[in-house]
Amino acid sequence: MIGLRSGKLPDIAGDFSCGSCERTCRSTELDRHLWCEECIALARARAKRVGWRFGGALAVALAAWIFLVLEPTMLIGGWIGVVLATFWLCSRIATEFWYGHLRFRKRPR
Ligand SMILES: [Zn+2]
Repeated sequence: MIGLRSGKLPDIAGDFSCGSCERTCRSTELDRHLWCEECIALARARAKRVGWRFGGALAVALAAWIFLVLEPTMLIGGWIGVVLATFWLCSRIATEFWYGHLRFRKRPR
């Protein structure tokens, strides 16, 4: 299976169509799930947008809970660090999860 490690198909003669938009392209333009580069970029951008929103919403909810319920009086910087870490980590997780969801649905939007 030469070429599959890089995530791209090897150069095979003939026309292939993207598994998502069905545009005709060369085999080297498709990844191993038979998606073209445009569909991959679209899905990545969409997943990133959803991921940032989800991470942001979770961070805001956590910040509200910390400052309204816990009412911290010291180590405020540490609590802010916890909120920022939650934002970054949950954004990344949500981005990868949503990207997998879009790939599974075979639609980049
Ligand atoms: Zn495509």
